[in-house]
Amino acid sequence: MTRTVAILGGGIGGLSAAHELAERGFDVTVYERNDRFGGKARSFPGPADGDAHLPAEHGFRFFPGFYRHVTDTMSRIPVDGGTVVDRLTTTDELLQAVTDGDDRLMRVEAPRSVREWRERIQTVFGSDVPRDEAAFFANRLLTLLSSSERRWREEYEHRSWWEFIRAEEMSQAYQTYLGYGITQSLVAMRPQVSSTRTIGRIYLQMLRGLFDPELPADRLLDGPTNEAWIDPWVDHLRRRGVDLVPNAAVTAVDADGERVTGATVRHDGPDGDAERVEADHYVLAVPAPAVDDLLTPELERAAPSLSGVRNLDHGWMNGVQFYLREDVAPVRGHGVFYDSPWALTAVSQRQFWERYDWNALAETEGVLSVIVSEWDEPGIVYGKPARECTREEIVTEVWEQLRAHLGTDLLNESTLVASQLDPAVGFDEETGTVTNDAELLINTVGSLEHRPEAATECPNLYLAADYVRTETDLASMECANEAARRAVNALLDDLGHPSKRCEVWPFEWPAVFAPLRRQDDLGQRLGLTHPGEGASSLWSAYRDVVRP
Ligand SMILES: Cc1cc2nc3c(=O)[nH]c(=O)nc-3n(C[C@H](O)[C@H](O)[C@H](O)COP(=O)(O)OP(=O)(O)OC[C@H]3O[C@@H](n4cnc5c(N)ncnc54)[C@H](O)[C@@H]3O)c2cc1C
Repeated sequence: MTRTVAILGGGIGGLSAAHELAERGFDVTVYERNDRFGGKARSFPGPADGDAHLPAEHGFRFFPGFYRHVTDTMSRIPVDGGTVVDRLTTTDELLQAVTDGDDRLMRVEAPRSVREWRERIQTVFGSDVPRDEAAFFANRLLTLLSSSERRWREEYEHRSWWEFIRAEEMSQAYQTYLGYGITQSLVAMRPQVSSTRTIGRIYLQMLRGLFDPELPADRLLDGPTNEAWIDPWVDHLRRRGVDLVPNAAVTAVDADGERVTGATVRHDGPDGDAERVEADHYVLAVPAPAVDDLLTPELERAAPSLSGVRNLDHGWMNGVQFYLREDVAPVRGHGVFYDSPWALTAVSQRQFWERYDWNALAETEGVLSVIVSEWDEPGIVYGKPARECTREEIVTEVWEQLRAHLGTDLLNESTLVASQLDPAVGFDEETGTVTNDAELLINTVGSLEHRPEAATECPNLYLAADYVRTETDLASMECANEAARRAVNALLDDLGHPSKRCEVWPFEWPAVFAPLRRQDDLGQRLGLTHPGEGASSLWSAYRDVVRP
């Protein structure tokens, strides 16, 4: 008898679980609150330009070279005689822009000569960072690389990145490039509160992409996300028999204290009514705040680990798209605007969106897609943080912060056709504050213990979303996909199902550190500190003597 699975939520986690289950012969239905699938990764129609609608997204999507899970799934979505993974294009450059100095344009392909290696290290570490501080930072990275898994979990999970790299005592350049750097700009995590475990692991994996000739540093899709990826995926899943139901919000997950007994789904539209859904298994694939809304005492008794979601922190990371009469492409890759108060990053999309039909648009020739990762610092126009601005003020402020970096010649008012702020950002007239319907999980110090496993204590409930414990350990499409694989594997194990388990890969670490990691494991069992901490103590002495 075919077993039924109800997947609640149709983001990357939900669709990935549907994909794996459908391939293994399950009868799958996905219920999604929105009219489109893809969750935070989805794109949607923006403002009109002639007869067409401009392409809009929560924010641009990037796929760092170390991603394996989500790209593996993409390689199993057939499209145009190939697969969706063929639609990823590699970036060539990274722009590190500052207003009070020279911008740095870094090539991102792996260095091939000693000179290129030296230049790459200098650019990565920021050439303004004093040499002694850069050496200290390099030492910290070596400490991480040679630390055992256990130390990562038991020690680095409980230390902030800011404290681990001793950013407080360092120069402004050190704080900007190595403290905030990718941390805040690319993954919206404040280094002062985010765990060394999460940031250190992602930092080292990103670095791999910048030095390893086998890996691309970064990839982007060759069109808006739904057009290039999600729509072909949904078509593929439907062909495989998955029932994908949009405009269907889950309003209750019923449990009897031991098992999930059903769910209530409210359908949108004039004939919208409530439907009682029952299945053999349930995969909960909604974000952590939505899990919190659905928690009842009975559900919590059935799956106590779910209550951990109440202790998780979320940050804001939302996009603004500027539609331009003339294409502006200052870099073939990401631009990181280091000293913009709102921690802006941007991608000029046209150079990558080869499959997009630009001719269908009346005026627009280019899209500058910007992400705002800092919502609590005052801006340069209104002197207010983004959280206190209206939608119009946010758009103006972002435009001006970009212009402060890229110049008013490149970005002048006459080139602007339209703009679009992420619709997840709302404005509460009563309180005069901004709301956000698409907050992003941030892995704060010690948060790992609150994050549930994909397999819950409840025998018919599994979790497939970016807050679940995974090797990836960062709220991302990769994490959501890995969580889905773990959820499906747990379900198969519970059934003793004969089908092949989904592949789940650990991060790759340079083999040369393996003996040191093993040695550190032993050292930690014996209660010893990592030898790298000696260098940290030496730094204190050095700082007091050489740089009093
Ligand atoms: C601006 C921005 C840029 C990002 N850029 C990147 C990037 O470049 N690379 C990367 O890897 N990651 C990126 N991320 C993170 C990534 O998008 C998310 O971590 C990932 O998409 C989460 O997938 P998910 O399936 O866990 O959750 P979601 O995407 O939140 O999907 C959950 C789904 O559940 C639905 N849902 C919620 N409540 C209900 C309900 N009651 N009933 C039914 N359905 C419900 C939602 O509508 C949604 O479709 C970015 C995030 C943001 C906000």
